[in-house]
Amino acid sequence: CGIVGYIGKRDVAPLLLEGLQRLEYRGYDSAGIVVTSPKTAGLKMVKAKGRVRDLEAKVPARFKGTTGIAHTRWATHGAPSDINAHPHMSADNKVAVVHNGIIDNASELRRKLEADGVAFLSETDTEVLTHLIARSQADTLEEKVRQALRIVEGTYGIAVMHADFTDRIVVARNGSPVVLGIGEKEMFVASDIAALVTHTRQIVTLDDGEMATLKADDFRTYTTEGTRTTAEPTTVEWEA
Ligand code: GLU
Repeated sequence: CGIVGYIGKRDVAPLLLEGLQRLEYRGYDSAGIVVTSPKTAGLKMVKAKGRVRDLEAKVPARFKGTTGIAHTRWATHGAPSDINAHPHMSADNKVAVVHNGIIDNASELRRKLEADGVAFLSETDTEVLTHLIARSQADTLEEKVRQALRIVEGTYGIAVMHADFTDRIVVARNGSPVVLGIGEKEMFVASDIAALVTHTRQIVTLDDGEMATLKADDFRTYTTEGTRTTAEPTTVEWEA
């Protein structure tokens, strides 16, 4: 339903929780957040059924990070619950995915992955993406995501973090909106510009079939096949 992400120097959890609140008007049943930083090892995650303030109440005092992604979920596959809330993380805690949309061939992919020994934690269609990315042998996060997206059918706006690639967030769009917010040595991503405009008015809207890599001081866009695309930020007018 709603996605917010950030990479930069700020304390990311309060910023993302505030972004999720700006997406509350869309409706949702649960929420979650994952954060990391170049200094801390690994990804830290908290998820909660209910309101963004229920999530906020579960976030520990020491939940520091400068990179993160967060989500409000509107369940399509699997009941609203803490576990079915996004992000969905791989068993080794390396890959975290937030997803808007529906993976149509999720049950078929899930059967294949389970036959191959993968243990699923949730009932969501989204979780297949997490495992496909985590199992990819590709060298880069971009290529891991690309390989997973070649296998799934359906609609998605996704944001992906990986514990071995903490300098970036990789995002992709097919039928579910993804907008980038371009800042000064910081980058934002969201499913809706309402979550971005308090931070930047410089916006890049991804097209279907497009992906992007966000680093603190740089972003690039490309097709799911890997061809670079040109993305000139446009300045949005917005009445706060
Ligand atoms: N299909 C996914 C799920 O049920 C994502 C739903 C959404 O867009 O929030 O978890």
